[in-house]
Amino acid sequence: MNYPNLLAPIRIGAVTLPNRVLMGSMHTNLEELGEAGAPALAAFYAERARHGAALLVTGGYAPNVEGRMKAGPGYLVDARQLAEHRPVTAAVHEAGGRILLQILHSGRYGMHEDIVAPSAIRAPISRTTPRELSAAEIRRTIADYARCAELAVAAGYDGCEIMASEGYLLAQFAAPRTNRRDDEWGGTLANRIRLAVEVVRAVRAALGPERLLVFRQSVLDLVDGGLEWDETVAMAQAVAAAGADLISTGVGWHESSVPTVQQSVPAALFSEAVGRLRRALDVPVAASNRINTPEIAEAVLARGDADLVALARPFLADAAFVAKAAAGRADTLIPCIACNQACLDHYFTGAPMSCMVNPAAGRETEFRLTPAARRKRVAVVGAGPAGLAAATTAARRGHAVALFEADALPGGQFRLAARVPGKEDYAKVIDAYVALLAEEGGTLHLGRPADAAALRAGGYDEIVVASGVRARRPDIPGIERPIVVGYADLLSGRVEAGRRVAIIGAGGIGFDVAAYLVASGETPSLAGYVERWSGTEPAPATGTRARQVWMFKRSAGPFGKTLGKTTGWVLRRELADHGVTQLDAVEYLRITDDGLHYRRDGTDAFLAVDTIVCCAGQDSEAALAEVLAGHGANVHLIGGAARAGELDAKRAFEEGMRVGLAL
Ligand code: NAP
Ligand code: SF4
Repeated sequence: MNYPNLLAPIRIGAVTLPNRVLMGSMHTNLEELGEAGAPALAAFYAERARHGAALLVTGGYAPNVEGRMKAGPGYLVDARQLAEHRPVTAAVHEAGGRILLQILHSGRYGMHEDIVAPSAIRAPISRTTPRELSAAEIRRTIADYARCAELAVAAGYDGCEIMASEGYLLAQFAAPRTNRRDDEWGGTLANRIRLAVEVVRAVRAALGPERLLVFRQSVLDLVDGGLEWDETVAMAQAVAAAGADLISTGVGWHESSVPTVQQSVPAALFSEAVGRLRRALDVPVAASNRINTPEIAEAVLARGDADLVALARPFLADAAFVAKAAAGRADTLIPCIACNQACLDHYFTGAPMSCMVNPAAGRETEFRLTPAARRKRVAVVGAGPAGLAAATTAARRGHAVALFEADALPGGQFRLAARVPGKEDYAKVIDAYVALLAEEGGTLHLGRPADAAALRAGGYDEIVVASGVRARRPDIPGIERPIVVGYADLLSGRVEAGRRVAIIGAGGIGFDVAAYLVASGETPSLAGYVERWSGTEPAPATGTRARQVWMFKRSAGPFGKTLGKTTGWVLRRELADHGVTQLDAVEYLRITDDGLHYRRDGTDAFLAVDTIVCCAGQDSEAALAEVLAGHGANVHLIGGAARAGELDAKRAFEEGMRVGLAL
C-alpha cells in the first residue's frame, strides 16, 4: 500500500476519518463576501473533499463583531447568516467529506478600529492599540463562542475548530507577553488559559458529544513572553480534558521574527516539537507547516511525530493531494512551493486567494475543465510555466497537444529558480506538469527549437507561443568581458562565481542570486534554526560558498520593494545577516577585468570583484509569434513572450491555463 500511515483510518472523538490528512484553515477573502461568496467557497471545498481530504476546516469566522479580522462581515453571529454556510456544508457532504467551522477571534490582530485584547498592548504588527476586555465582556465572549458553535451546527458543519494558535485572542490570554491582568483571567497559568478552557467547555456543550472539536494551538510560540514548553503542554492537556478531540498544531505568532511558512523553512522542521507534545497527550495531534508532499507527510507520521497532518497551502496547489497519493500518482501532484505569491500575499491586498502553480484554486467555478467541443491539434512553443499550463490544460480537455522546447530540459526560468536555496521544489512543479501532460496523452519534444515553417506545415489548428524571455544585457562599456556572467549561466551551474561578487540589478532574480551566492547549503536543526532567527546576531558566513556580495541598482530607495509581502522580509534579513552590501542610485560607468566602475552621490568609485552577475531584467522572446501571425496561423501569445516587464510565474501559469481553457 502507498503511504501506509498517511492513508490509514483514524478515530477522532466520535468519528472515524478515512485517512490522516486534514485540510487546514485558510482565509480565502471570499468569507467577507457573505452569501455572494458561497458558490465559490462551496466549489472550492467540495473539490478537495471529492479528492479524499479526510476533514476540511473553513477559514476563520469570528464569534462576535469585535473579533473579526477585517472590517467586513467575517463572523458568524446570527441565524440570518446561515444561508452563506449551508451551500458549503451541503456541497462537502455531497462530495463525501466532512467540514468544520473555524472560530477565530483575532483579538489585537484585528485589522479594524474596534479591537480588544486581555490587556491594552499594541501588537508590533498593528497600528491600533486594543481595548482591554472587562470581566463581563470575557464572559460574554465565551457565550459568543458557544452561540457561534450552535450556529455552526445549524449550518450543517461536522464540528468546530477553535483557533488559539499564531497569537490570536486565546493565545494572547495565555501568554504573559500580552496578558498583564491581575484578575481571574491573568497571572498564573491556570488563570491565563482559563479562557481557552472555558471556551472549549462551552463549545463542546454546544456541539454535543458526536461532533468534532479541534483545538488549534501553536506548538512553539517563538516570541518573548510566549508560553514556555511546560505551559504549552499544560494548555493542550487542559483543553483536551475540557473536551477537545484533537490538538492541531500551528507554529509561532504572526509577530514572531522566526519564519514559519516561507521557503527558507526546511521541510517538516517543526514536527519534532509536535512529537514531544504528542507524547504528553492522550488525544491525537496534527502537525503542520512545510509538509507539502505525501512522502514528507508519511515520514512525519512514521516517526511518530503526529497522528495526522494538517495541510493548507498544499491543497491550493493541488486539490487531489490524497487521491493522487492513494493512486500511486504522486508524480503528478503539484506541490506547494511556499512562495505565498497568490495565497497569503493576496490576503493582505484583499484579492481572492488562489495559487501561483494552480490558478484554478479558489476559482473552481470560473476555471472549469470542460471537455473540448472538438478535438483540435494544438502546438505549444516553450515549456516554461505558461507553456506547460497551456499544454496540460488543453490536453486535459481532450485536445491533441504537442509541446516544443528548445532546451534539453523543460521549465524555462522556473527551473532555474530551483537552484536557489529553498526553491528546490520548483523543479517538482515542472516535473508534475510534465507528468500530467504525459498522462493526458500530450507529447513533449525537448531540444526542439521552434521553427515557423515546420509549425505551419504541421497543420495545427492552434499555436500557442510561450517562448518566454531572454535576459537583458545592459549597455555598459565592458559588459562583454569574461568577468560578467548571466544569472542563467550562474544558476544552471555552467559557471562558478569567485569570492567577491557584484550583482547588477536588484529585482526578484537579483535577490535570488544573492541568496544563492551566500547560502551555506547546510540544513539547520530545529533548535539551531530557532536560535538563529530569534537572535539579533548576524548569521556567520559558513560553508564552501562563503562570499562577499554587493548588489547594485540605478533607482534610488530601499531594496526589495518588489518582493512578496509575506516573504520579502525573510530574504532581506537573510542577505543582511550575511553581510550583503546594497548600493542604490548608482550609475554604471564601465566594467574592467578587475571590477566595476560606478558613480554614486556624484563621486566615481571602483569595486574590485572576481565576478559580476547580470540580473538586469528580461526582454520578450516573441519573434516567432510575429512570423506566424503574418502568415495567418491561429496564434496565441502568452507569458513572458507577450509581456516581459514584471513577468512573474503567477501571471505565466494563469495565462497558460486561461488559453488552455479557451481553445
Ligand atoms: P526585475 O524585477 O524587472 O528587476 C530588474 C532589475 O534590473 C531591477 O532591479 C532594475 O533596477 C535593473 N535594471 C533594469 N534594466 C536595467 C538596465 N538596462 N541596466 C541595468 N540595470 C537594469 O526583473 P528580474 O529580477 O529579472 O525578475 C523578473 C520577474 O520575476 C519579476 O517580475 C520578479 O518579480 C519575478 N521574480 C520574483 C521573485 C520573488 O519575488 N521571489 C524571484 C525571482 C523573480 P534599476 O532600474 O533600479 O537599475
Ligand atoms: Fe503554495 Fe505559492 Fe500556491 Fe501559495 S501560491 S499555495 S505558497 S504554491
